[in-house]
Amino acid sequence: MGKDIDVTKVVRQHLETEQFFTGGFTVKAKTQQQEDDMDIAEKTKGLEEIADEVRQCRKCPLGSLRTNAVPGEGSPNARIMFIGEGPGADEDAQGRPFVGRAGQLLDKVIAAMGLKRSEVYIGNILKCRPPENRDPRADEIISCLPYLQSQIEIIGPEIIVALGAHAARTLLNTTKPIGQLRGQFHEYYAGLGRPPIKLMATYHTAYLLRNYSPENRRRVWEDMKKVLAELGLPVPEKGKD
Ligand code: URA
Repeated sequence: MGKDIDVTKVVRQHLETEQFFTGGFTVKAKTQQQEDDMDIAEKTKGLEEIADEVRQCRKCPLGSLRTNAVPGEGSPNARIMFIGEGPGADEDAQGRPFVGRAGQLLDKVIAAMGLKRSEVYIGNILKCRPPENRDPRADEIISCLPYLQSQIEIIGPEIIVALGAHAARTLLNTTKPIGQLRGQFHEYYAGLGRPPIKLMATYHTAYLLRNYSPENRRRVWEDMKKVLAELGLPVPEKGKD
């Protein structure tokens, strides 16, 4: 018989040798779930950094008029981003997008699509409320747009829904009326070397509230059905009410 083998010693030696070559870590392949979690954590961090910047922003006069900036909110992994024009009084008071009457109607549209508000991302062209809800000015849009562009870059949605003329015209760099832009997919150019993102323009829910005709509601619902079809999502039956 040969010499007895000291198993404990052999195992220890094996582990020490492995630790030496792996720098002390046991190297394991990451699961897809771990990769996804990291991705979400990085996106969340990026979006929080933008939100912090927005809350301190004084690049245009709206920065000193606001109660709260409204950076935007929703899933960092959203497949759809809804983009409005700018915060109103309710949004300015709460620091959250689309929480007033137009927001409640947007919530209904999202629910009718079979989605949850927390599954999509909701933002605006302007992050601060223009006084008396006047239209955004060119200099304000120019100062503020990089925040939204960065949010779009981080989230990487498959579809952007531009709510109303200001969002649609800004993102498509056009002066065409919303009546001509809505109802069809356009391309939003996210920057050099990046693939364009599909953009659906539709009526703003504030416009819809002011013009709450069956025809306008049907139009918005038709637009949202196209979005769902493009994403391969089921189209719920009763969406247009
Ligand atoms: N209208 C907008 O365009 N954005 C909001 O956040 C609320 C109302």
